[in-house]
Amino acid sequence: MESTWLVLVSLALGLAVGAGFVTLLHVAERHGRRAAEVVNPAVPDGIDQVLDALESAGAVLDPSNNVIKASPAAVSMGLVWNQQLVHPELLELAGQVRRSGDAISESLILSRGPFNDASMRVRVRLARLGTRYVLILAEDRTEAFRLDEVRRDFVANISHELKTPIAAVGLLAEALGHAADDPVQVRRFANRLTTESGRLTRLTQEIIELSRLQAQDSLAEPEVLNVDDIVSAAVDQSRVVADADRITIAVGKKSRAEVSGDERLLVMAVHNLVANAVHYSPEGSRVGVGVRRHDGVVEITVTDQGVGIAEADLERIFERFFRVDQARSRHTGGTGLGLSIVKHIVQIHGGDIRVWSQPGSGSTFTIRLPEAPPTAPSAAETSS
Ligand code: ADP
Repeated sequence: MESTWLVLVSLALGLAVGAGFVTLLHVAERHGRRAAEVVNPAVPDGIDQVLDALESAGAVLDPSNNVIKASPAAVSMGLVWNQQLVHPELLELAGQVRRSGDAISESLILSRGPFNDASMRVRVRLARLGTRYVLILAEDRTEAFRLDEVRRDFVANISHELKTPIAAVGLLAEALGHAADDPVQVRRFANRLTTESGRLTRLTQEIIELSRLQAQDSLAEPEVLNVDDIVSAAVDQSRVVADADRITIAVGKKSRAEVSGDERLLVMAVHNLVANAVHYSPEGSRVGVGVRRHDGVVEITVTDQGVGIAEADLERIFERFFRVDQARSRHTGGTGLGLSIVKHIVQIHGGDIRVWSQPGSGSTFTIRLPEAPPTAPSAAETSS
């Protein structure tokens, strides 16, 4: 933005002086008659081309505050409509620039055009062009601001989430010291210390995993993977917990589907869904895991007969640290990061995740991934 700005301003000033940038009133006398003609009310060629090529918003105002040239983004962002600036705030700044001659930089919150109530965060720069014109450059910073906010929230959430188990470890260590002569108490506090340190380990591992996933858009070295193998590895990791609650995990028939991706991450994604299905289900119930292929898409479905999720919460369950029931999630050792990790893993594999749920009846989570293109048969296979 800064460099575009400098180039634009120097180009514009040069052109303004050299090419006679002002609107000229030519009074000519031809064949004994006076004729008034307005010559070149537009900005010079150079500015035209720069504004046309500009990705961010740019506009030039004439002395009556009419927009005589605007970049496409200035119109699509809703700053300019009908050859006028939409926002009085910008007109006010243009007036200040004209009066003082000094350039202005400001961050503003503006509406997205004359007919849209949604707001946007905009960084604007205004400067005089010659003596009569004002150049406005604007950059939509809404998305950057939102990402910044997400990052700040994440850090605040992490500190909050870490505080509880760290405080618990401190208190338990102290209690352990006081109970040194009572072996029953010592065993009780030691067990709780083990639980809390396990929670801390899980939390830090998941935070690190999620941060890594958020930093990548796609996979560096994807491999062709058998989806049935991914599912059985993921289910195996949940068997012990499921058996303890007499929950049956039923895996559907082999699909022979293949996807291109990272095995460790895909096993983690399916495992997180199966682990949730087990955690949020009553004793003695059933969890089903199936794989289906159709139209170049591989669907991995995990279904449970558990507590289900209310419609209002469905949109939020993929957010970091969101839990429908804080107490229950803590009791089961949940971090609130599992589904967020699943969402990111699926995204970097070019897929998506869907959920259907009904409180009291259960939930179905479906991971959808692009099927790997069939591999060409090897020479050995063709000749046999
Ligand atoms: P957690 O570690 O708390 O399980 P997740 O990100 O995996 O965090 O899930 C977020 C929340 O979504 C959970 O706290 C729970 O309230 C809800 N949830 C996830 N899976 C299920 C499920 N199969 N049945 C009911 N609720 C679920």
